[in-house]
Amino acid sequence: MSSLQPAPSTLSVVATPIGNLEDLSQRAITTLQTVDLILCEDTRHSRKLLQAYQIVTPLQALHEHNELASVQKLIERLQTGQRMALISDAGTPLISDPGYRLVRACHQHGVQVLAVPGPCAAMAALSVAGLPSDQFCFIGFLPPKAAARSQRLQALTQSHATLIFYESPKRLLDTVRAMREVFGDQREVAHSRELTKAFEVTALTTLAELEAGLLADPDQQRGEHVLLLAGMPASASNAAIPPAMIALHKALCEHLPPRQAAGLLATHLGVNRNDLYTLSMKK
Ligand code: SAM
Repeated sequence: MSSLQPAPSTLSVVATPIGNLEDLSQRAITTLQTVDLILCEDTRHSRKLLQAYQIVTPLQALHEHNELASVQKLIERLQTGQRMALISDAGTPLISDPGYRLVRACHQHGVQVLAVPGPCAAMAALSVAGLPSDQFCFIGFLPPKAAARSQRLQALTQSHATLIFYESPKRLLDTVRAMREVFGDQREVAHSRELTKAFEVTALTTLAELEAGLLADPDQQRGEHVLLLAGMPASASNAAIPPAMIALHKALCEHLPPRQAAGLLATHLGVNRNDLYTLSMKK
């Protein structure tokens, strides 16, 4: 099917490459060629991408520092019939990148928002990690300060879903150490580095081995990184539910439906509702 110019008064949210320039889709190229204005984080950075494709559409900066102040004017221009595209420095806009306020304002003011999907480091890493992908949770960047980072990680310990983190080279080692402290040496982790670029590597390992590898070869800390942490195995959470809790659940079930009884105990005693229900019904 051929690519079409977007309709008037639309904002197209366009994914761009995360390293390999050949990953820009044909539809992304057509959209960027035919809109009236391209909104980007850094005009100098995005000009290089556009030059590679001989795209001469005007660029305007939209970044975290001016997004709030710019939204109203952009909406007014879109409402006069202009077509715009939103891109970020790399990958999919809004995924740990600016654009949320503008997209939300478009919905609130009746401006159509179109997706032009493509590269995203989180999805690329998940697709090559070898970890369960039926349930995953995108966390993005952890807080930079140690106490807040550790608190955030603690809050994720009960998750069964694969957890996806972005990290900078400067903080990678500290983050892996913090994960090891909270999740233990043996928790599986996939480390994707420099996806789609010349030195792309994805390794499926444990937190203890990843930390040792990063210390032994500091070059592995360079570049761009995604960390994917395996979720808590169902057997581990079942083991965390003491037999007395199951007995209590069974006693409560004489007065309440089983799911409601599990919900009550989860709220008051901090156990996982689904694990308690599943385990209690099996016994
Ligand atoms: N919007 C982007 C996306 O769709 O993936 C993410 C932008 S966020 C500001 C940048 C972070 O994404 C990097 O610090 C890194 O964690 C991750 N990232 C981006 N490109 C990557 C690549 N080629 N390989 C590994 N991680 C990458």
